[in-house]
Amino acid sequence: MAAVASFVDARSQGGRWLVRIEDVDTPRTVHGAADAILRTLESYGLHWDGEVVYQSRRIALYEDALRQLGGSTFGCGCTRQDPVCHCAEGLAGRVARSTKVRWPDGEAFTVKRADGLFAYQLAVVVDDDAQGVTDVVRGADLLDSTPRQLHLQRLLGYRTPRYLHVPVVTDAHGDKLSKQTRAPAIVPGDEAALRAALQFLGHTPPAGAPALAWAIAHWDPRRIAADTR
Ligand SMILES: [Zn+2]
Repeated sequence: MAAVASFVDARSQGGRWLVRIEDVDTPRTVHGAADAILRTLESYGLHWDGEVVYQSRRIALYEDALRQLGGSTFGCGCTRQDPVCHCAEGLAGRVARSTKVRWPDGEAFTVKRADGLFAYQLAVVVDDDAQGVTDVVRGADLLDSTPRQLHLQRLLGYRTPRYLHVPVVTDAHGDKLSKQTRAPAIVPGDEAALRAALQFLGHTPPAGAPALAWAIAHWDPRRIAADTR
């Protein structure tokens, strides 16, 4: 859904569509998963511009950004057992395990995890800037991340892209269809699925019209319903 929405949005503006494999969480990365995703995108006519970017190969950039954040960060010695983090005021003899960013309007959030991996929030902000991303179109399940990313952009002196959050497809319990909720994998090149996705996004291509091309010509994000249940 997010791929279709972002592709059509970019192409409707004559823009480039970039694909990034967000595999910064290396222990959870399944071998071959990225290739399967890319093949599925191609089967739907979702052809990206330029090289595919893999976050797992860009750790040095995230290290630089973390250094640049400097005084906005603090070491956190909390474990899962700590209900509230008070480490911004000092570690009280504990050893720092992770690195967090101060956030005046909310609870501090992690930019480098206790296992040494960079948090999604930091990696995404660094990559969006490095790739010159002007428009981010993604699922509303990431809405909570957006204010944290805006905060990081300000701290790092980056410009903020435009954001469009599209509804996510949910099951009868309101849970997003995903691997976690055991939704079956999408079938490659399924024209009916593509049409259903566009319809979900408020764009119904007429029968016989090439669905993707029609959606690009008629794309209007205001037609996406706020509540699709
Ligand atoms: Zn803490």
